[in-house]
Order: sequence, then C-alpha cells, then structure tokens
Amino acid sequence: GAQIIDVNMDEGLLDSTAAMVTFLNLLAAEPDISRVPVMIDSSKWEVIEAGLKCVQGKGIVNSISLKEGEQAFVERARLIRRYGAAAVVMAFDEAGQADTYERKVEVCTRAYRILTEQVGFPAEDIILDPNIFAVATGIAEHNRYAVAYIEACRTIKRTLPFALVSGGVSNLSFAFRGSNPVREAMHSAFLYHAIRAGMDMGIVNAGQLAVYDDVPPELLTAVEDVLFDRRPDATETLTALAGRYTGATKAPAEDREWRRLPVERRLAHALVEGIADFIDEDVEEARLQAARPIEVIEGPLMDGMNIVGDLFGAGKMFLPQVVKSARVMKKAVAILVPFLEHEPVAAGPGRRTKSKIVMATVKGDVHDIGKSIVGVVLRCNNYDVIDLGVMVPAARILETARREGAHAIGLSGLITPSLDEMVHVAREMEREGFDLPLLIGGATTSRTHTAVKIEPHYHGPTVHVLDASRSVGVMGALLSPERCAAFGRGVRAEYAKLRADHEGRRARTQTLPLEEARRRKHRISWDGYRPPRPCGIGPQVFDEYPLAELVPYIDWTPFFGVWELRGRYPAILDDAVVGSQARTLFREAQALLERIVGAKLLAARAVIGLFPANAVGDDDIEVYADDSRTAVRALLCGLRQQGEKPPGRPNLCLADFVAPRETGIGDYVGAFAVTAGIGVEEVCADFERRHDDYNSIMTKALADRLAEAFAERMHERVRKEFWGYARDESLPNDDLVAEKYRGIRPAPGYPACPDHTEKQTLFALLEATARAGIRLTESYAMWPASSVSGWYFAHPEAAYFGVGRIGRDQALDYARRKGMPVREVERWLAPNLGYDPDA
Ligand code: SAH
Repeated sequence: GAQIIDVNMDEGLLDSTAAMVTFLNLLAAEPDISRVPVMIDSSKWEVIEAGLKCVQGKGIVNSISLKEGEQAFVERARLIRRYGAAAVVMAFDEAGQADTYERKVEVCTRAYRILTEQVGFPAEDIILDPNIFAVATGIAEHNRYAVAYIEACRTIKRTLPFALVSGGVSNLSFAFRGSNPVREAMHSAFLYHAIRAGMDMGIVNAGQLAVYDDVPPELLTAVEDVLFDRRPDATETLTALAGRYTGATKAPAEDREWRRLPVERRLAHALVEGIADFIDEDVEEARLQAARPIEVIEGPLMDGMNIVGDLFGAGKMFLPQVVKSARVMKKAVAILVPFLEHEPVAAGPGRRTKSKIVMATVKGDVHDIGKSIVGVVLRCNNYDVIDLGVMVPAARILETARREGAHAIGLSGLITPSLDEMVHVAREMEREGFDLPLLIGGATTSRTHTAVKIEPHYHGPTVHVLDASRSVGVMGALLSPERCAAFGRGVRAEYAKLRADHEGRRARTQTLPLEEARRRKHRISWDGYRPPRPCGIGPQVFDEYPLAELVPYIDWTPFFGVWELRGRYPAILDDAVVGSQARTLFREAQALLERIVGAKLLAARAVIGLFPANAVGDDDIEVYADDSRTAVRALLCGLRQQGEKPPGRPNLCLADFVAPRETGIGDYVGAFAVTAGIGVEEVCADFERRHDDYNSIMTKALADRLAEAFAERMHERVRKEFWGYARDESLPNDDLVAEKYRGIRPAPGYPACPDHTEKQTLFALLEATARAGIRLTESYAMWPASSVSGWYFAHPEAAYFGVGRIGRDQALDYARRKGMPVREVERWLAPNLGYDPDA
C-alpha cells in the first residue's frame, strides 16, 4: 500500500547511475508498481538527473538543499522543473544542517522564497524536510530536536503556503536500537503530534508502527516526556523502561499473558491474533455471563472482528492473518449456534442488521480461491455472504438474491469466456428489474472490460473490484446511504472515460490483412532439420502419480500472490514488510502439504501423447494417427498475429514452429492434460465442516501449485525421456520456472492460442476425460479446477507470444477452417477482436 516508492542506488560498489536507470526502467514495465510515484533518492546530482530521464508521470527528487550555495540550488531546481518533478528540500545551508526551531524555519523559508520567487517553482511541489534528529542520546543539546521539528512544522504550514512537510522518522529513536517496542512507541507518538502540527509525509518502517492508542500509558508518558523535553530525567526514565519492554516481542503463541485479561479482551485478542486454541472455553464463559447468547456475537466477537477489519483496511494486517481471524470467528459462532435456536426471531432495538451479498463464480467457470478470500474478508467486516460456489447459472444467482433480500451481487471468473457470461448476468439483472450493485472480480476481469462490456447493460451500480483488500471499501461506499450517490457518480464518470479511451484505441487498432501477416510469418529453415522422433506415439496415462516427486517442482511465487503477498519466492521470506507473514504462511503451507502428500489426501493423474504432425495451409497443424501420415486424427487451428511489427519481426502463429507438410519432413507435436485436484472437494468439505476456511483455501491453492508442478515435471520427462530430445538436460527448478529449456507448452486460452474451444480438440486427441478424469465445462474450464493442459512444441525456435488483436478477415477464415459459425468464433475470441463485430 505504499504511496511513494523511494529508489536509492547510492552504494559504494554500485555504478549508481546505471543501476538507477536499469531499475527505473524495470519498474516502468510493472503495471502494479508503475502507478505509484517514484522518489529518486541520491546524494549525487548525476544519479538524480539520470533517474529523472526515466520516470514516467510525475516524480519527486530527494533531495536538494542550499548546502552548496544558492547558485547550484537554483540550477538544480530549474532542471527539476523542466523534468516536471517535485522536490524534497532539506533544511541544510552553507552553515550546515538546521537543528534548532529558529534555524529550521529560517532555512526552509529562504529555500521556499528562492524557489517560488526566483525559479517559479510551484509551491505545492516543494516538500520541506526540517530534519528529524535522534533524541534521548544523553547529549543535552539533542533534547529539543523533536519539539523543534514539530514546532517548525506548525510555523511552516502557517507561513509558507502550499508547501508540504516531510521527514525521516526512524532517526528519532536511534538511541534505542535493539528495543523495537520503544522505537515503535516513539515513532507513533511523534507522528501523532507532528501530523497534528502539519507534517504531510514521512519515511518510516510501516511494518513497525504501533497504534498510538495501544501504547501502554506508562510507556507513552515516558516517550512524550522525551519528545517534548518535559522533564530533566526524561531520557533516564525511558532508558530504564526500555529494558522492560524489550522482551515483549515474543511470538504470540508463546505469550500467555493475555489469558489473564477479562473475557471480552481475550476474545478480541484471539480474533486479532487468529488463535483458536482457547476459543471454546472463552466463548462458553462469555455466554454464561451474557443475558442472551446472541449478545456474545454482537458484542465482543463483532468488536474483535471490527478491529481486524480496521487493521486490514489500514494495511496493518495481511490477508492470511485475516483469514485466520475469520476461522476463529466461525468456530466461535458455531459454538453459539445451538443456543441461538431458542432465540426469539424478532430483532430487538440496537440489533445490528447485516448487509447481504450473494457471490458466485459464473456458469462454465470453476475457480473460486479469490472469491472465497473476498467472502472471508467481507464476513470479517460484518457482511452476510452467501457464496453459491462455482459454475452458477444466472437464474440461480438472481433467484437467490431475490429470495434472500440481498444488498449486492458479486460475480467472479477466471477464464475469458466468463466475461461473456458476466455480460449475460448483467443483462438478466436489467431484464428482471434489479437495482442492486453488481461487483465484478476475478483474474480475467478488468476495469475496462467492466466499463465497456458490462456496465452499459445494467443501470444499477456496476463496479470492478481489483482484489480482496478493496472489496470492503467498495461495499462500504456502495451501501452507505450518505456515500453511495457520490461513489456511483465517480465510478460512472470513470467508466465513461474508459469507454471513450477504449473506443479511441479500437479505432486506431490497425490490423494487417491476413494474407500480409502470413507473408510475414516466422520462417524456420527446415533444410537439414531432423525432427527428433518420440520414443512412443499416442497417449500414455499416469495414474496415482507420486506427489512427493512433484513437490520440488513447485513454483512458490504465485502461491504468495494468491494471498495478496507480493514478491518473488524465496526473497519474499525476507521482505521488510511482508516477510514475517510470508514465513508463517509458508510454514503452514509446508505442514499441510506434508499431510497431503503423506496421507495421499489428493491424487494426481495425467495423460500425455506425442503424435506425427505437419503444418498445413499456413496456420493449422494436422495431427496424424501414425507415422504413415495418411489418417488425420485432429486439426489444430492456429491464430496469427495481425498487428504491425517492427521491421524484421515476424507475425507469429504456433504453426510456424512445425515443419510444413510440403517440406516432406516428418515432424511431431505433443499434448498433455494433468490434474492434481482429485480429492480436493472432499478435503475442503472436511475443513469447512470444521469451520476452517483458512485450510480449505490453502488446500485449493496447494492443489493448483501441484498441478502446475505436475505440468512442469511431465514436460521435463517429455524432453528427457518420452520425446527424448534433451536427454542430458539438467536444470534446477529456478531455471525450469524461467523456461530455460528447449521447447514450449502453450496452453489453449493463453495468449499464443487464445481460443479456449481448442481444448475440445486436445481432449479428444488424448481422450483426457476418460483417461485422466478431467472434464470440460461449457466454457471450456477444466474440472477439477487444479488441472493444466496444453501442447508440446520441440523446435528450438518455438517461443511464447501473444496473438493480440485479429481482424475480421482472420475471424472469417478461422471460422471456415474450424467449421464453426463466425458469430460463435467472435463470441469465444471477443477479447481478441480488433473490430466491432456488431458494426
Ligand atoms: N511456474 C508457473 C507455470 C505456469 S505459467 C506456475 O507454477 O504457475 C507458464 C505456463 O503458461 C506455460 O508453461 C504455458 O503453458 C502457459 N503460457 C504462458 N505464456 C503463454 C502464451 N503466450 N501462450 C500460451 N501459453 C502460455
């Protein structure tokens, strides 16, 4: 949730300028990161200027100052203006760093005057940093540093209009290194007062910030005595206290102190920390104390969940923790349920009514991890969530919403055909006269798609929700009588603009004529190429594949993504912000994985096949029954890139990677379908019976990982054994994940072959349903959900690419080759059409 990313490459052994340029260019290509403003941080001006040349949007320079005199200051400020950036201005002049209140105000005022009056620097782009220095160091002159900063903030905000105030907070507590509780308390108290005095931004370890109200009063008083230099013995008192607080960072599970708290506090603690160990006894005690059992839920339990919701909303808790909190809540409620049945139904005064949301993965789609997480998060925030599961037809969603008196409907989907199904649901809502807000989420959905394709069909509020952490904010805004109108207007205006942008883009989308694109195909020189011959032709089944063999092939990075912990494995385990959460999550995942493997809770099954094949008619591949190449077993229909490419770059189609029939060279392709999802439903049902959504979601996430690992392992065996063209290959898992081997395994529905219906051909060729137990839904999603399928290509030049937008000529040609009505082709390929099929 960072608001600014500070990039600093000042390290002795680095070529700082080159590192800054490389890194900023990498950031620019990361969609999630490039949205956040960059603060270019260096003490060397050349590095800053090199950085300014790379940042897109508005950057911030950190920093300039009067240290080297007015002339250099003015020159740099002018250049920063030309690059359109804002600047941090340190309170530093020819005489040194400003330390007293008077000096801070004097230097900042002088810098502000020069910038606004001589340079024409916009005052709102000036960020003054009046220096936060360490206090309680034992040196008397340091005692007023904190109060000097806070007072300087107040004066600056009053006298230098529009300028912002920043500061590096961690310096403050330098004297207490090694005592995090004291440092955190100092930072929290300092920020609390400085922000009230006008501080706009600061740099601080967000993962180590106590809540001001949670700082023990005794410690808070000692800290504030230091900050405000209120007593001569302030430093001594705080130092003495520090000894006592330093031990307080024990793991929560080992810390039993909280067991002595009153029962309401114990319940809140258990919820926030996700500890279920004592929940039975605590709930029972609370129930006996309460007049009515419902009061336990509406009182202490809801209060605890509200704390969780607030901490999550403020970025102080992460998803896995929230899901664990929800597990404690569910267990607690389950204990109370038998007592609630005797409750009078009439809602008494003061009873909180919950808002209800009906959620479903749409018809034809099977994935629900993301949706389950959203459900859990919403429940934590006091919403009543009715989760209809996966493959839910529109009629059932609407019926349920009506019957339950829902306040909102949430749709989820993972594969592209689901986008169309969502449009259908929106239309049905309109037709049946619904007004409820419609929330759209899931991997293939986007704001643009929601704006362009869904919203126009439904008059009620229609909102794309990026991830679980946003869902609470969106629901809150939509269902609040005060805020919903303004929120709805904002979304509508934003979506109207997205539609206009999209129209403009589409109007500018140029596709080459298909014939021209074909002329520009990738030409492999087949002369002298001897395709490797597979050791066996036709399908081969692997039943009860040993899971233990797959574990080392797991790519863990996407696993953390599921839990909205961003970062690459294994570096994420040491990440400054999410590292400790990532480690806990990883440990618990390993434990469950061991159980799954040890007790064979899941089963893995695969079918693979290698077949004689040749490219025909530019874009298709004929698959033959045997080496005589007389009987055609299947025709794989390919799509070709039709966008204008830079000179020398081909317009690719997968068929380019297979020897054309007319070369007379007997080539081959392969196909695979693997699953690790056999048994997932039973395991999850079992966890859910025990109110354990956390482990249920974890099971699904692990099954997905095992399926991908299975695909990786089978691909490796194909290269080394079954097709055998890379017998000597020996790559560590990192290199497998990075695809540093010969050949590819493109998956239908992915960018190189975006048509999901080609899975029908693949499944027929392998008889994957009969042999591996994997079914296709009406949208060509695979069931069990933890399944992967695709083609194998062996040519060294075979590479992944994206087909991108195609023209009407290709859609018509493709429809003819496939023997499918054009309308239907256009429906399946909707996201790839470079033209409006209805125009
Ligand atoms: N290590 C990852 C592997 C899955 S993503 C994980 O565990 O999740 C990579 C796979 O996606 C590829 O092996 C291929 O099957 C598919 N893929 C990626 N890019 C593709 C493209 N452009 N066209 C078709 N399939 C693609």
